[in-house]
Amino acid sequence: MNTSYDIIIVGGGMAGATFACSLAHSGLSIALIEAVAPPKGKKRNQQPGYDDRTVALGHGSWRILDALGVADGIAAGGITPIRHIHISEKGGFGIARMESEEERVAALGYVVENRVIGHSLWKQLDAAPNIDIITPASVVDASNYLNQVVVNLEDGRELNTNLLVIADGGRSAAREKTGFQIIRKPYDQTAIVANITAENGHDNTAWERFVGDGAVALLPMTDQRYSLVWSVPGSRVDYLMNLSDKAFLRELQEAFGDRCGQFTKAGKRAAYPLALEQAHTPANGRTALIGNASWSMHPVAGQGFNRGLRDVGALAELVNEAALCGEDPGSAHLLKTYIKRRAADDRIMTTYTDSLVKTFTTPFPPLKLARNLGLASVSMLPCLRHPLTALSMGEHARLPRLRKHLPDVALKHCS
Ligand SMILES: Cc1cc2nc3c(=O)[nH]c(=O)nc-3n(C[C@H](O)[C@H](O)[C@H](O)COP(=O)(O)OP(=O)(O)OC[C@H]3O[C@@H](n4cnc5c(N)ncnc54)[C@H](O)[C@@H]3O)c2cc1C
Repeated sequence: MNTSYDIIIVGGGMAGATFACSLAHSGLSIALIEAVAPPKGKKRNQQPGYDDRTVALGHGSWRILDALGVADGIAAGGITPIRHIHISEKGGFGIARMESEEERVAALGYVVENRVIGHSLWKQLDAAPNIDIITPASVVDASNYLNQVVVNLEDGRELNTNLLVIADGGRSAAREKTGFQIIRKPYDQTAIVANITAENGHDNTAWERFVGDGAVALLPMTDQRYSLVWSVPGSRVDYLMNLSDKAFLRELQEAFGDRCGQFTKAGKRAAYPLALEQAHTPANGRTALIGNASWSMHPVAGQGFNRGLRDVGALAELVNEAALCGEDPGSAHLLKTYIKRRAADDRIMTTYTDSLVKTFTTPFPPLKLARNLGLASVSMLPCLRHPLTALSMGEHARLPRLRKHLPDVALKHCS
């Protein structure tokens, strides 16, 4: 077995697998280490990143997936366009609407099942000759040296690399071992997710309704179902998780109201405790963080993987450029540029998501009036609506130059 690689990626969830796919034509030798093996044949995927959840991917994220060469494969598995977004507060007068027609795009974003993304990415990885997939295997230690990173696996194997990319999710062990400092702020909130059917179908509308102590998000998905993400205080989780489907739907209806008509069916429920977690820096030594290993956040704005994809895009652009120029993919200069390119977006996303959570879980009456005035203003004033829509679509950040443009870029920049 090979023990020396240009790049080692720890974690084959959505971020790690997308990043690996983006290097399939780089000519670099890559190892992808994943703790849970993908399923064989028709078996159910047990990998934690590809469970029953869905993600809403903004228009900008879709452009990154396209540039990385993985969008068509994912789309073939079934995606649902979001054409309308409706934001409101229970008992409030303000409503904000966003429309794909107004933005002159076919969709503001697309909803995809995590399982579908996993199936497509792993199929592409299997076909990439320069990528060694090492699974099931867990990284238990990693050490940054001047010229390499040494990675230790649970079974005693030792590998080394020019660049270690850490994509092992929010509870990253590799991140700790390589000396990253983390800020952690638990929210007293848990997301309850389930697939829901409503009598009126979804008409490609995504709903976000703030309900006093949390938020209900309903995303349109396949078979006219909604994907529900209901953020509730920790004290209500056991109660809601233990209800019968009928009683759960009654509670949901009471919280959300009847804008979608009656909720008629609920799928299996799962609960995810929520916290804001962020590394002080997304790179150090010869190591870079991407996806939830770099930053986990509240799903209220549906931005987690969208932001993770911008990490993937930014790093993939730099590494593919370095490969074309025959340069070191783990150089200090490359990682400094990665840190610089991610800084503004990281700042915007932390502030946006964290203030959204704070604003909508504070019952103080003057604040309630202010947020409803805010929602009404967004609806009435295009100068407020457009920047907010751009943020939801992931169009506020720099898009990476990938597949189509790389040869031109290299000609210009290779020294
Ligand atoms: C309820 C909810 C709703 C969400 N909705 C949205 C949404 O609408 N839009 C959006 O953009 N985002 C959304 N998100 C966020 C999104 O799901 C995450 O950002 C994304 O799944 C993170 O992917 P990842 O690959 O970074 O991490 P993970 O999915 O955690 O993957 C990490 C991988 O690393 C592997 N691993 C772990 N440790 C090791 C080790 N030591 N060695 C080897 N492998 C290891 C694991 O097995 C796993 O496969 C939501 C999140 C939640 C909780």
